[in-house]
This record gives sequence, C-alpha cells and structure tokens, in this order.
Amino acid sequence: MRADLEMVKALLDGSRRVVVLTGAGISAESGVPTFRGRDGLWRNHRPEDLARPDAFEAHPDLVWEFYNWRRRLVAGCEPNPAHRALAELERVLPNFLLITQNVDGLHVRAGSRKLVQMHGSLWQVKCTVCTHAREDFGELPALPECPVCGHLLRPGVVWFGEPLVPGVLRIAIDRVSKADVFLAVGTSGLVQPAASFHQLAKDHGAVTVEVNLEPTPVSGFMDFALHGPAGEILPELIAGIADTASARSTGGGGR
Ligand code: NAD
Ligand code: ZN
Repeated sequence: MRADLEMVKALLDGSRRVVVLTGAGISAESGVPTFRGRDGLWRNHRPEDLARPDAFEAHPDLVWEFYNWRRRLVAGCEPNPAHRALAELERVLPNFLLITQNVDGLHVRAGSRKLVQMHGSLWQVKCTVCTHAREDFGELPALPECPVCGHLLRPGVVWFGEPLVPGVLRIAIDRVSKADVFLAVGTSGLVQPAASFHQLAKDHGAVTVEVNLEPTPVSGFMDFALHGPAGEILPELIAGIADTASARSTGGGGR
C-alpha cells in the first residue's frame, strides 16, 4: 500500500483537475455514524427506512425525532484530519471540486468552499408547502412549523427516492467527466447517483482512487484502492502535495 500511496501522491501533484467524492465514512472518525456501519441502527430503525418521503408523510414526528437527534449529535462533533486535508488540497490545487453525499456540514466547518453538498444539509430546513427555506443551527421543536404559512417544516436534505436539487447533478457530471484524478473517500459505492461517478470518471480517462476502511463493491474497478482510516490516509496523501506547492511558490523545486 505504501507504493500505491506514493503513486497517488505523485498523480495528485501532477494533476490539473481533481474531483473528490466523499460519503459517510469520512465523518465516522468525527463520531458521526454511517448508515451501513456497525452502529447503523437508530432505535431499531434502519436509517434508510426513515430518510424517505413516505416515512415522513406517515410518521413526521418519528422522522423529525431522528433528524433532531442527528443535528444534536453532529453539533457535538468536530471535523477530523480527513476533512481538514481536503480543505488544504483545495487551497493547493488550481482546479478542485469536492462533492459530498454527507449532510453533516463538517466539510464546511473544516474550511472547504469549492464544495457541492449533493444531498443538502442537516442545517437547512424548508417548508413542506410554501417556498420558505432557511439555515438553522438552533434547537428545533418536535414538529417545527413554517413562520410564513404555518405548515410543517422538513429537513433540507434529499431523501432516498427524491431527485437532487436541479443543477447539482449537471455540475457534478460535468466536473467528474473532466477530472484527471477522481478520488472516492468513505463511500460504500451503493447509493446512486454518486455510485455511477466512478464509472463516469474512468470512462473519461481519469485515474480513479478509492480511500475506504475496507474493500467495497467498486474496489476492484478502481485504479488504486487505499484501505485504512480516511483520517490517516488523506493527511499522508496531502502532505507531499502541500510541501511541493509551497516549494513551487518559493521558487524551489517543482515542475
Ligand atoms: P455508507 O454508510 O453506505 O458507507 C460508508 C462507507 O464508509 C463504508 O464503505 C465504510 O467502509 C466506509 N468507512 C467507514 N469508516 C471509515 C473511515 N474511518 N475511513 C474511510 N472509510 C470509512 O455511506 P454512503 O456511501 O455515504 O451512503 C449513505 C447515504 O447516507 C449517503 O447519502 C450519505 O450522505 C448519507 N449519510 C450521511 C451521513 C453524514 O452526513 N455524515 C451519515 C450517514 C449517512
Ligand atoms: Zn410555509
């Protein structure tokens, strides 16, 4: 793995267009549970059964309880070295985009700005009836109401079975298909449409790299699969590049 890590480091350093896709695994070391991991159940419910529009329609109180629990949990978590490494990579690479499936906001808190939050954010709420939407970091009631029309608010996240926010998929597809390096971090490769990005990147000639705690269904397909905690692997990957970038800017070494 050491040799692969050095190869990926060199590739990243020499690349012009890097796209990184992250999933729940990147936040696991911050203490945010993944959906499919060992602690993947919430009060005996599978999260995938609650993060759905039909579940919200049938049991809005239960679904809001789940989201209010997640909001409190994430509010007590901090970005980890993997989030910080990606914020650093954005600063040293000229053409970089981070696409996350996560809704926890930890990339933003780590300093990432060239960021697409494909599935929205736990910190957004929106009305189920009118156009009211807002960012809200506070404690919410069990069934929060819209201040404009009085109807029920819902979490500003994209649930399983819902379409993405218009434009988001177009941007993601455009940038993934132009990437020369595509890095997938802490994602099971099972949730669409993000799961198809690996194939899209490869079809358009990108070098594809996976960083995951363990092999996934797409590991064999990727050009490089680096297995271990993202919080250890990403800082190692980024260290070399940050050093070369600062050497370049001070005139020493570089290409
Ligand atoms: P997933 O739960 O399906 O898979 C997580 C992946 O992360 C697994 O492959 C696992 O092996 C890997 N992983 C776990 N710990 C890791 C670590 N320390 N380092 C590297 N890899 C690690 O997650 P998914 O693929 O993102 O899909 C689930 C869906 O649910 C997505 O839409 C996701 O956004 C959402 N979700 C989000 C959060 C969050 O915002 N933090 C949490 C749970 C689920
Ligand atoms: Zn409203």
